Amino acid sequence: MRSSSTFFHITRSRRGGASRIVRRLIRTEAVVLTSYPRVSDDVDLTNFERREIILPDTLPHGHVELETLYLSVDPYMRCRFGPEHPQLGEYLDPFQLLSPVAGGGVGRVVRSTHSNFRVGDFACLPFDDYPWQRRVHIDVDKYTRSDGWGLAKIDWHASACQVELALALGTLGMPGLTSYCGMLEAAKPCEGETVVISGAAGACGTLAGQIARMSNARVVGICGSDEKCDFLKRKLGFDSAINYKSPSFLRSLNEACADGVDCYFDNVGGFVSEAVLRLVNTNARIPVCGQIASYSEEVAYTTLVSAEGIPPDVASELEAKRANRFRYLVLDHSARFPTALKKLRDWTASGALRSVATVTRGFRPAEAFISMMSGGNIGKAIVEVCGRDEEGEYLWISAPPP
Ligand code: NAP
Repeated sequence: MRSSSTFFHITRSRRGGASRIVRRLIRTEAVVLTSYPRVSDDVDLTNFERREIILPDTLPHGHVELETLYLSVDPYMRCRFGPEHPQLGEYLDPFQLLSPVAGGGVGRVVRSTHSNFRVGDFACLPFDDYPWQRRVHIDVDKYTRSDGWGLAKIDWHASACQVELALALGTLGMPGLTSYCGMLEAAKPCEGETVVISGAAGACGTLAGQIARMSNARVVGICGSDEKCDFLKRKLGFDSAINYKSPSFLRSLNEACADGVDCYFDNVGGFVSEAVLRLVNTNARIPVCGQIASYSEEVAYTTLVSAEGIPPDVASELEAKRANRFRYLVLDHSARFPTALKKLRDWTASGALRSVATVTRGFRPAEAFISMMSGGNIGKAIVEVCGRDEEGEYLWISAPPP
């Protein structure tokens, strides 16, 4: 099945009379989770199935029916693939078996029984509730929230199947807010300081690095390939970029951080972070944004971000230098979201901030998720459900300033 379709359920009356149409049904497609991977295993395609599902025939009052255009795949989702995952944390539930996986998504309104949405509007659920389905029914009031994670109308000009719509899942959504608040509220770089960012070529890293550059700090990115390093320096203005998979990683890091590290925006943890932490200066700021290197390990997130999560000699050194390493969670900064979104929009419009996305074509969110977890993306990993259902992916970069 290639797309959603409407069909009519026909019954024959008991008395053998003529057939009559009794109700309108919508047949659509979902990606459901059929098994949980072990915590120590990577998620793979055998954990998913594409299934036909039937949506309720009537759209209840206060709902919208959305045709899915873009889906977001994000690292935190890894922790939801199993009820026993030690990093589920306090604000996430595990995905249910035989139910569609869910994350962020953008859709076009095709039916509405809510006064705020009209047919043809575009809407976004930016965080964790948009199911991996080609069509969805959303209860608008249930998802009307004041914290920035509710159902929102997209109010910038874009037409269906233009990747600008997916900015709501990237620069103008969760990764943008994470990078803005993480850099300007948590790391607080100053002119001339050295800022290191791990996971630098990903959704948050590409934005966090550009935002740090705006403070006239020296920005050093760490990522997983020479191609990505080249991209960060040539397209996004990073001062240095280092491939952590290269045998010369430690030497290159030492050279790039000859004056020590004043801010470290940590997206990955593991040996990369250990190497950076050994270089920090007195009073360094170290927001721990994510620990993707440990998302398949039997260790609690609270442990990873505490002093227990790093070697004892590194922890002592940080203490001696009064370096502040702390857990950073974007949700804690929701009061700043309106200001942050305005800035992110202005920078995007002026070309001061470039958005980058790796777009997977077709209704293939599981493939996109697996690829992103192993470094297949530069910028935001996005699934383009609209358009031709063909395999493949492309790199999208917002236009440079005129
Ligand atoms: P992303 O960076 O776009 O994608 C994940 C990247 O992680 C991959 O592209 C891969 O790039 C890298 N990676 C995978 N395994 C790795 C490993 N073992 N060691 C080092 N790097 C590895 O994802 P994102 O959405 O921007 O998220 C980045 C981090 O921020 C994640 O840890 C995420 O959980 C976290 N996050 C936290 C918050 C918060 O509020 N605290 C909000 C959003 C995201 P390479 O090619 O470079 O390996």
